[in-house]
Amino acid sequence: MTEETVRAAEIAANLAEIRARIAVAAQRSGRRPEDVLLVAVSKTYPIADIAAAMAAGQRDFGENRLEELWSKVEQARALSLDIIRWHLIGTIQSRKTSDTVGPFVLIHSIDRAKIATRLSRDAVMAGNVMRVLLEVNVSGEASKHGFTPDELLAQAGELLALPGIRVCGLMTMAPFEAEPEATRPVFRALCGLRERLADRYPASDWGELSMGMTNDFEVAIEEGATIVRIGSAIFGSRNGQ
Ligand SMILES: *Cc1c(COP(=O)(O)O)cnc(C)c1O
Repeated sequence: MTEETVRAAEIAANLAEIRARIAVAAQRSGRRPEDVLLVAVSKTYPIADIAAAMAAGQRDFGENRLEELWSKVEQARALSLDIIRWHLIGTIQSRKTSDTVGPFVLIHSIDRAKIATRLSRDAVMAGNVMRVLLEVNVSGEASKHGFTPDELLAQAGELLALPGIRVCGLMTMAPFEAEPEATRPVFRALCGLRERLADRYPASDWGELSMGMTNDFEVAIEEGATIVRIGSAIFGSRNGQ
């Protein structure tokens, strides 16, 4: 076997294991496995690894840096891998919002009103409407991005009125915990916040909850995640990145 076939087999096996774990976690909480979307986080990994995951049936991929995302969009096009559904999951700089209007199925990381406003403006100029999630800093950690729950409750009305974005739900990143169970209150709080927003703004779509990564996705699914973002369990560890 060549190095590439070994690598492709490894990625396929990792994906199969993650899908099985997603199914078990979904069933444990009375949900169907297909109600949880797996976004394979391919940041730092090459297009060949993405192609291997696609051969194993994966369609949704997430990247956290805009430059890397655009570069991979181009590479995928060149290889005719055009059925990929790209997700932007990383922080957006305010002078980069025009680059954020693109062939992306979902932007997970709208973390403040200024980004929402600028992205909406740029999307309208491009004749586009971008599907987005609002990122919430549930834990209040200074190192984390996102609206605090109170900010979001105060600002949601304005955000929902922006014409160039369509809010589809919420996203959060839990702090890393050696014991994944310790993340449960963060996920539960995001789900509770979604309920309050849906009560106040019932005409809007609050359906998606993007929460859970390699370390904690099973707990997130038990707490209602509809999207999990998993990188290292599929592609390998990224040396601290
Ligand atoms: C890197 C990243 C992930 C995936 O993290 P893993 O621990 O490798 O699964 C998920 N979400 C965001 C926003 C990320 O930047």
